[in-house]
Amino acid sequence: MTIKEYVKEQKTKLKNKIGGLKVPPCFAIIQVNDDEASNAYIRGKMKDAEELGIKCELIKLNPQTTQAELLKQIDKINNDPKYHGLIVQMPLPKGIDEEVIKFSIKPEKDIDGFHPLSSLEPCTPKGIINYLIETGVQIQGKNALIIGRSNIVGKPMAKLLLKQNANVTIVHSKTSAEDMKFYIEHADIVVVAVGRKFFLDERFNYRKDAIIIDVGINRVDSHLYGDAKPGLNVQLQTPVPGGVGLLTRLALINNLMEAYENEIFNN
Ligand code: NAP
Repeated sequence: MTIKEYVKEQKTKLKNKIGGLKVPPCFAIIQVNDDEASNAYIRGKMKDAEELGIKCELIKLNPQTTQAELLKQIDKINNDPKYHGLIVQMPLPKGIDEEVIKFSIKPEKDIDGFHPLSSLEPCTPKGIINYLIETGVQIQGKNALIIGRSNIVGKPMAKLLLKQNANVTIVHSKTSAEDMKFYIEHADIVVVAVGRKFFLDERFNYRKDAIIIDVGINRVDSHLYGDAKPGLNVQLQTPVPGGVGLLTRLALINNLMEAYENEIFNN
């Protein structure tokens, strides 16, 4: 099943579920920057919310906002039971410490899943693992390679693949070219999250039945490209755009639903 078909099916289920709730789930997005990529991500999240009957409020702050002012705004939402989720859109302007901001969001409302105490998983790895599981990809005992070790993609992806009993390897910028080639050519599942256009191309001899999950989003001359060159000789390669980005958005809604249900359960 393609990602588009899968996401459509999952959204229909969510829409039916949300339609039956007395109080719809509600989340806020705080935006302090005004860059093109962030605007596009926010539009996507708001479109999903509207489509599914979820309330979403965009709180747009002046780019000159100080860290103290932003923390005050976060605190307000943390303490308002009306909101089940809160996102602070990254990146933040210079002078605001992203780590301080991430950790200031109440873990129960952290639907991005960035807070170490949050029970919610980061959206990109969560979206990917759910897609693999629900479309019947065998993960147990398979060689899963993750290229990139960021806190929001690479590391949590490793945890989720390990939980599914894959043999997990992570490589990064300090991996030698020789080892990189070896690991890529022995992998059954490759999750590439490097941020370099066509990092994976036909220089490598992939396993014919390999699956490449392309996380990369590279903007070049106002076009979007993945980390993998389209059309590689593998069993499945996710497209960019229209691939992992959609899974990430779906996982965000699933995190919101979990936060909503936890809130009801705990009160
Ligand atoms: P990041 O924090 O910049 O991490 C990039 C990782 O790639 C680092 O671990 C880095 O290694 C590694 N790397 C860089 N150059 C390399 C090279 N030449 N060889 C091997 N490894 C190399 O990026 P991120 O936040 O994980 O995001 C990665 C990409 O995914 C970006 O294009 C981003 O826009 C995209 N993304 C997409 C979604 C989505 O929803 N589709 C979500 C999140 C991110 P070191 O650790 O050694 O520096």
